[in-house]
Amino acid sequence: MKNRKPLMAANWKMNLSLGEAEDLFTRIKRAHIDFDTVDVLVAPPFTTLPLASRLLAGTDIHVAGQNMHWETKGAFTGEISPLMLKEVGCSHVILGHSERRRLFSETSEIINRKVDAAIEAGLVPIVCIGETLKEREGGKTFDIIRSQLHESLKMRGQPRNLSQGVILAYEPIWAIGTGKTATPEQAQEAHLFIRRWLRENFDNDLGEAMRIIYGGSVRPENIKDLMSQPDIDGALIGGASLRAESFLSIVRFYEG
Ligand code: PEP
Repeated sequence: MKNRKPLMAANWKMNLSLGEAEDLFTRIKRAHIDFDTVDVLVAPPFTTLPLASRLLAGTDIHVAGQNMHWETKGAFTGEISPLMLKEVGCSHVILGHSERRRLFSETSEIINRKVDAAIEAGLVPIVCIGETLKEREGGKTFDIIRSQLHESLKMRGQPRNLSQGVILAYEPIWAIGTGKTATPEQAQEAHLFIRRWLRENFDNDLGEAMRIIYGGSVRPENIKDLMSQPDIDGALIGGASLRAESFLSIVRFYEG
């Protein structure tokens, strides 16, 4: 039995109009979800965040940004600061998604700054890591994960207290939006590796307590098998989070 409460996090990416978002929020809000059993989070586009906060106020559903800048304000055209996310009702922020790393040249060094800034602002960062297909086939999966963990979570000067809330998302890049899910065994192997790294580099309690969620073509059909693995603590869901039926059936994996 895991002591960590599962988290089901929806990453809408650059999808859904305000009208579509309102409809989806309303359906999620009306659904019967056992919040003692599962945490639920939605990360819509920036322009939808005020609507999300308004419609989800008073519910147990968390709202997250999909990215942010590390500075609190200034001449950074097109960017959003941690404080702006807080102001609009976010409790979490996704950092280092593979699309940010690949399409917008975000390095682990940049992500490290963002992790610092998020914690400083009181936001819980959801830090994404994962290997490409080429890296997996070249037998480099664990080297890549190790270096992403080290570079993204390394401490600057003083010990960082990660226990106050960091979530890791293991997202093998070859499984994102491709319909190819890692097998539960492949995902478990990577999650266990991450947990051991946390135990060795921070401490046992932190390694035990930190939630490591899986992302990559999660669907209602595969969530139960993924969640049956001892070190998988939830999911980061892209495509399947855009429709109420599929998202809610993933969220309610515990019923199946
Ligand atoms: C994601 O973008 O984080 C993701 C896992 O997408 P999908 O579920 O569509 O593979």
